Amino acid sequence: MKGVIQPVAFVLKCLDCGHSFSYYPTSVACPQCNSEWRQAEYDYPALSKTYPAVLADRPFNLWRYHELLPVHSPYPTISLGEGGSPLIKAENLGMMLGCPNLYIKDERQGPTGSFKDRQAAVTIAALKEAGIKEMVAASTGNVAISYSAYTSRASIKLWAFVTSLVPAVKMREIALYGSQVIKITGSYDQCKQVAAEFARQRGLYLDLGARTITSIEAMKTIAFEIAEQLAWQIGSTPKSSWKSPDWYVQAISGGMGPLGVYKGFHELMQIGLVDRIPAIAPIQAEGCAPMVTSWKKGLADSEVVTSPRTHIETLATGDPGRTYKFLRKYVDETGGVFESVTDEEAFRAMHVLAKMEGISAEPAAAVSFAGLFKLIRAGVIKPSDVVVINCTGHTMAAEQMVLGDNWIRDVNFVTKIEAPQEGLLAALDQVAPDRFPRIALVEDSIEARRLIRRILQSQGNFTILEAQNGREGLELIEKELPDLIILDLMMPELDGFDVLEALRKNQETATIPVIVSTAKELTVDEKNRLGGKIQALLQKGNFLNDEFLDEVKSLIKS
Ligand SMILES: *Cc1c(COP(=O)(O)O)cnc(C)c1O
Ligand SMILES: [Zn+2]
Repeated sequence: MKGVIQPVAFVLKCLDCGHSFSYYPTSVACPQCNSEWRQAEYDYPALSKTYPAVLADRPFNLWRYHELLPVHSPYPTISLGEGGSPLIKAENLGMMLGCPNLYIKDERQGPTGSFKDRQAAVTIAALKEAGIKEMVAASTGNVAISYSAYTSRASIKLWAFVTSLVPAVKMREIALYGSQVIKITGSYDQCKQVAAEFARQRGLYLDLGARTITSIEAMKTIAFEIAEQLAWQIGSTPKSSWKSPDWYVQAISGGMGPLGVYKGFHELMQIGLVDRIPAIAPIQAEGCAPMVTSWKKGLADSEVVTSPRTHIETLATGDPGRTYKFLRKYVDETGGVFESVTDEEAFRAMHVLAKMEGISAEPAAAVSFAGLFKLIRAGVIKPSDVVVINCTGHTMAAEQMVLGDNWIRDVNFVTKIEAPQEGLLAALDQVAPDRFPRIALVEDSIEARRLIRRILQSQGNFTILEAQNGREGLELIEKELPDLIILDLMMPELDGFDVLEALRKNQETATIPVIVSTAKELTVDEKNRLGGKIQALLQKGNFLNDEFLDEVKSLIKS
C-alpha cells in the first residue's frame, strides 16, 4: 500500500455559532461557544479534482476514502478489515414485495458482526493517534462489542457500561476482549448518565455518541460505498459518476447511522459524484419510538420515552436529544419518513429475511426490514424505486465456557425512573473502589510497554504508571510509591540493576515488590546481583502465561 502519511486537510465547524477551528480527537466542544455539536468539513473542490480516479487501485474497504476521514494514517494498523461490505440484490424479497430494485447493504459482515465496526475502527484509530490509554463508553450492546475488539488492538482499556437488558452472550463477548463490563439495571439513558459521571470523576475520555466527530465520519462511508456499488451494479449517467438510491432504510436507536449516511451523500454531491441525497427512512421499535411519534405529531423537539417497552434492547434510546432535530430536518428535506414497527413484526421479518435471502440478522436489523415491508405496502416506497436497506447486525455468541466468574460488575437502580444525583454517585461506588493497585512499568521499548499495559488492563483494574528509562523510572517510583514495579534490566542511562540497588537503599522504596523482565538468559554473575532483591524474574515473550498474572495479583495483595 502507498503509505505516505499526509496531514488530514479538514476543519471542524461549530453547528451553533459557525466558528471554524482545527480538530483534535480528544477535544469535545467548540472553543468559542462550547457547543458539542460540530461537523468536519473538507476541501471539496480540491477533492473533486482527484476523486474518483485516485480510488482506482485501492482495496474496497472503509480506508479507501481516507482523504475524507479524520485519521492521519491512511491505513491504521488496528484495522480488522472493516467496511467494504457487499451490496446484495434481494431478488426473492424484491419479487415477493413487488419492488424489484431492492438492495441489502450487508453490515453483518463487519469484523464483530455489526455496522458499529465502522464507528469503532475510525474512532479508536483517532484516539490511539491522540495517545488515549483508557476510555469509557455506554452502549446498548454492539458499540461495546466493537469498541472492545478495536481497543484491544490499540492497547486502550475500555470501561463498557451496558444495561441489564443486553443479552448475556453479548456481555460475554465484551468481556472476552478484555473490557470491564458494568451492568446497569435501569434504562439506557440512566446507563449513559452513570458512565458520564464515572468518566468525569476519573478524568477519563468519554465517548459522546452522535457528537463524536469520528463516529459520524465513519458512518458516512456507508453512503460512499453504496453510491459506488450501485454505479457498478446498475450503471450511472454520466459514466464517470456514482449513483444514489431513491431510498435509504435503517433501524435506529440514537440515529447516528442516518446522520452519517446523509452527510456522506451530501459530501458526494459537493464533490460532484452524485446528483441527490436519497430519501431517508429511519425505523424504530414501537415500544421505544420517540422520534417517530414526535415526527408524526409535527414536534420540533423529541418527546422522551422513560420506560422503553421493547425486547429489542439494541434500539432502546428513549431520549434522542438533539439528534432528533437534525434527523427530522434531513428526513423532511429528502422526502423521507419516520416509521415504527412492533417487536412481533420485527421477529416475523427476521424469519422472512432468513428464509427468502439466506440472511440471519439480529432483531434490531430486522426492524428495518419490517419497516420496509410496511412502507411498500402503504405505497410510500414505489415499485420502481431503488431501495437500499441496511442490514445492521448479526451478533455471534461468545463461547460460554471461556470466562471465569468475576468478569462483571452490577449496579442496581432502586429508583427506576429518575436517578437522583446521590443515586448515581452511590451506584458508582459499587463499580470500582476509589483506588486501584498502582503498577510502575519501567521499560525502554514502547512495544513492550504497550504489550504489558494491555495484558494488565485486560485482566484486572490497575493504574499503570510508565517510565521509559532507569532514571525516569527511579524518579517516578520515589514520587509515586507504587504497589508493584515491573522493571526491565537492559536500559540506557541507568540500567535495571542500578535502579534496583537505588530502590533497596531507600527506606521508602525498599519493600516495594519488583518483577524483573528480561529479554535474555542471565549470567550467573547477573543472577547474583539480583539475588534477594526481586520477587520474580520473567523472560520476555512469556507475559501471556498465567504465571505472570498470578505473580502480579499475589504480589499486589500482600
Ligand atoms: C446501533 C444499532 C442500530 C441503531 O443504530 P443508530 O444509527 O445508532 O441509531 C441498529 N441496528 C444495530 C444492529 C445496531 O447495532
Ligand atoms: Zn460554537
